[in-house]
Amino acid sequence: MADYYQEMGWRELEDGEQPNHLLHMARFLIDCGLYEDNFTGEWPRLPPPAAKEAVNNLKEITIEDEFDKNCPICLKKFHMNDKAKEMPCQHLFHEKCIIPWLNQTNSCPFCRYELPTDDEGYEAFKKEKKRAEQRKEDLENLHNSMFS
Ligand SMILES: [Zn+2]
Ligand SMILES: [Zn+2]
Repeated sequence: MADYYQEMGWRELEDGEQPNHLLHMARFLIDCGLYEDNFTGEWPRLPPPAAKEAVNNLKEITIEDEFDKNCPICLKKFHMNDKAKEMPCQHLFHEKCIIPWLNQTNSCPFCRYELPTDDEGYEAFKKEKKRAEQRKEDLENLHNSMFS
């Protein structure tokens, strides 16, 4: 039976060789398609949970008036004295609806505004995505300045 690590292209470290965490990260990013020419900017699976700290820091609101708004998760109206959480995008959710959601994935269910995560791989992915967008913008600006 082929060794799993060999199959994955790993080999044992030589004497005195340090494990290379950057290499590990690079392989991870390659697996996500980040270093391919056709980088689509899409994360291949559900983004990781929101960082605990970000969840704890969400603004807590006690609904003081009956108002004509529904929680986008359970679709029920907010009632007086309901505990609600406000995302930085200013969307309101019942506390009991949004907390389990954010334990699954980091974005607003309504507008996909993203909270930070504790996932290093995903944060690296987001940075790379931003860089790719910036590069594209720079190229467009350059193009515009050359041809206008
Ligand atoms: Zn709800
Ligand atoms: Zn939102």
